[in-house]
Amino acid sequence: MIPYGHQSITQDDIDAVIEVMRSDWLTQGPAVERFEQAIAEYCGASHAVAVSNATAGLHLACRALGLGAGDVLWTTPITFVASANCARFCGADVDFVDIDPRTYNLSPAALEAKLEQAEASGRLPKIVIVTHFAGQSCDMQALGQLAQRYGFALVEDAAHALGGRYRGTAIGSCRYSDVTVFSFHPVKSITTGEGGMVLFNSDDLNPPLRELRSHGITRDPARMDGSCEGDWYYQQTDLGCNYRLSDLQAGLGLSQMRRLDEFVSRRAQLAAGYDAALADLPVRRPWQEPMTGSAWHLYVIRLQLDLIGMSRGAVFAALRKSGIGVNVHYIPVHLQPYYQRLGFRVGDFPVAEAYYAEALTLPLYPDMTEAQQVRVIECLREILQ
Ligand SMILES: *Cc1c(COP(=O)(O)O)cnc(C)c1O
Repeated sequence: MIPYGHQSITQDDIDAVIEVMRSDWLTQGPAVERFEQAIAEYCGASHAVAVSNATAGLHLACRALGLGAGDVLWTTPITFVASANCARFCGADVDFVDIDPRTYNLSPAALEAKLEQAEASGRLPKIVIVTHFAGQSCDMQALGQLAQRYGFALVEDAAHALGGRYRGTAIGSCRYSDVTVFSFHPVKSITTGEGGMVLFNSDDLNPPLRELRSHGITRDPARMDGSCEGDWYYQQTDLGCNYRLSDLQAGLGLSQMRRLDEFVSRRAQLAAGYDAALADLPVRRPWQEPMTGSAWHLYVIRLQLDLIGMSRGAVFAALRKSGIGVNVHYIPVHLQPYYQRLGFRVGDFPVAEAYYAEALTLPLYPDMTEAQQVRVIECLREILQ
C-alpha cells in the first residue's frame, strides 16, 4: 500500500536520538531549548514553546489567551477535531465559520458576515482558530484586520504548514496572529514521533505558557504569591498540565529541521507532477492563492462526480483495492456525533459539506518515488475513465 503520508528518517536522525540517549537529559532539557530556538528562528517569531503534541499546544494557547466557561471560540469545519476540542477542554462553546470554496480555508467573507451578526446579538468570539488547510496559508492579513476590529484573539492551527509561506514571511511568524501551533506527528512537515510547538511574539504570554506546560508551576520568585522560601521552593499558581516534549524527541526534531526545506520542495515537486498529470481528468486540482507558498502537507482533489458516474466512496474503495492509500480530509467537524449532540446539524455549513462529498487525498510525502506517483496516477486514470 502506498500511504497518503509517511515520515522520512535517515541514519542522521537515528544518530541524533542516540546522542541524546547518551546524554544526562532524557526529558525536557537542553535539546528542547535548542529545538525551540531553531523553530523560532526559522519562523521569525520571538518565542517558541515545545509541547507534547499540537492538540496540547492548542489547549495551552486557549488557556493562555484566557478562554473559559461562557466564552465562544470559532473555527473551520474543515480541520482535524483538535482545532475545536481545545475550546471544549476550557469549558468554552464552539461555533464554526464556513470555508472558501477555492482554498478550503476558513472564509474571511463568511467570518465578517458572522461577526456582524454576533456583534448585534452580543456574542462575539473570544478566539478564532484558523487552519492552513493542506499547508496553504489562510488570508492572514484580512483575518488580522477582522481580529483588530472585533477584538478577538487569532490563533493559527498550522499543523499542516511548517515550511509554508505567506506574503514573503514564514508561516509561524505570527505577524497577523497571536499564536501559531505546529504539529510534529509523523505525517506532518517534520516529525518528533509525537510533538508540537507554540509560537508567539508577546512577552506577556511567555511565562504563563511555559508554566501551564508543566503543572502551572513556577520557580521564578517574581511570579510567586508572597516570598520564595529557598532554592527548593516552587509554587503552583494555576492548574497546568504535563505537556512537555522530551529531549529524545527534540533531538529528532533538530535533525529533521535540517531537511525541512528539502522536504517541502520535494512535496511541491510531487504536487506539480500531479497537477500536470491530472489536468485532463474530471477532477478539480488544488487551487493556489498567489500570495502563498504551500507546505504541501496534502494533495486533495475534488471528484467531479456528475462527470464520473461513480460515488466518492466507490472511487476510494477501488483505489484502496489497488494498493493506493488514499484518504479523506476532513469529515466536517460539526457532523461528528459529539458536535451533533451540541446542536449542530447537516446543512449548517453547506460549502464545507459540498467539499467533503467530493474530496479525496492522494499520497504525498518526501520519500515518494516517481514510480510510486506514476502508479497512483495510472490507477486513478483507469478508475475515472
Ligand atoms: C495533526 C493535526 C492536529 C493535531 O496534531 P497532534 O500533534 O497529533 O496533536 C491538529 N490540527 C490539525 C489541522 C492537524 O492536522
